[in-house]
Amino acid sequence: MSLGLPQGNKVLVTGGAGFIGSHLCRRLLAEGYEVLCVDNFITGQKRNIKALLDDYRFEFIRHDINERLYVQVDQIYNLACPASPIHYQFDPVATVQTSVLGTINMLELARRTRARILQASTSEVYGDPEIHPQPEHYWGRVNPIGPRACYDEGKRCAETLFFDYHREHRVDIKVVRIFNTYGPNMHPKDGRVVSNFIVAALTGEPITVYGDGSQTRSLCYVDDLVGGLLKMMAQPKEFTGPVNLGNPHEITILELAETIRDLVGSRSEIVFRPLPQDDPKQRCPDITLAKTHLGWAPTVPLEVGLAKTIDYFDQLLREGTG
Ligand code: NAD
Ligand code: UDP
Repeated sequence: MSLGLPQGNKVLVTGGAGFIGSHLCRRLLAEGYEVLCVDNFITGQKRNIKALLDDYRFEFIRHDINERLYVQVDQIYNLACPASPIHYQFDPVATVQTSVLGTINMLELARRTRARILQASTSEVYGDPEIHPQPEHYWGRVNPIGPRACYDEGKRCAETLFFDYHREHRVDIKVVRIFNTYGPNMHPKDGRVVSNFIVAALTGEPITVYGDGSQTRSLCYVDDLVGGLLKMMAQPKEFTGPVNLGNPHEITILELAETIRDLVGSRSEIVFRPLPQDDPKQRCPDITLAKTHLGWAPTVPLEVGLAKTIDYFDQLLREGTG
């Protein structure tokens, strides 16, 4: 279904060569937009945007959002930021810098060009939550000095900046809080649970569950998520969010390991490793707001999304690029 193009159709996607960004670029092109993709390839992959380069409405700039950017666009999706714990903890200062300085640069761009800007925030703003499922009005429980803080607090500060630019400079903002999302184009070595488990199951290596596997996550297939991003961007100006986007189907990490092993038909052993510090024990979005305001809810069942993701990684491994 086409969403219909708003007045201007030039869209900037920061982090467009990453996992979610590459799907978003593809979907925007399919909807008739002109797409300017910006990425510094810190975690993104050229392979993710290779198929888009032939489209004359797609343009790529290798650029770090911590530097100013001077372009004329109508909409900005700010996705640039490493998202996997291994990646964002590799250079935590750079992670904070991207969420704070990079976000200021993108908000300044939105202010100058009067573009609407959407921030890819995260369920990590809720930290290790005491309220379950997490509604948007919950302020969260984040350890400000722990190893995840560079990401969690960086993203919390980015939300603060969005609302301050909105109040102080009337910037047209949208904020979405994305819960764990998975699908093709994830980096095979990015360390997140779905990619780790699938690659291990396909290669016959042990599947490593951290802790006893009783912690929960709620996994959203990327096509569903991208549909939610476009719906949020198309909302009236007054509706800023934040809005949770995620799949409320909750599963323990041990169940996920078993499901993936079964779907792959693998004999991989499931082994247990220590739980990383501050690893949230449970996570599930309350998506009442997304349902009522955006008319959005995920539709892809876990087994269906996992099967597509398994096919993707299987292909990568066959090509020897995984
Ligand atoms: P990803 O690591 O695959 O993509 C991030 C992209 O941003 C990469 O291509 C990377 O090279 C680029 N990037 C990072 N820093 C940059 C910088 N300073 N300048 C330019 N480009 C830069 O991660 P993803 O899963 O696609 O996540 C995309 C966004 O969605 C992130 O902002 C992330 O925080 C958010 N998010 C993702 C999830 C999820 O489950 N995938 C959950 C919550 C929030
Ligand atoms: N996890 C795991 N084995 C892995 C990777 C992750 O058991 O190989 C666990 C991790 O400890 C966490 C959950 O899976 O409890 C989700 O981890 P991920 O890094 O994908 O995302 P996040 O913790 O940011 O939700």
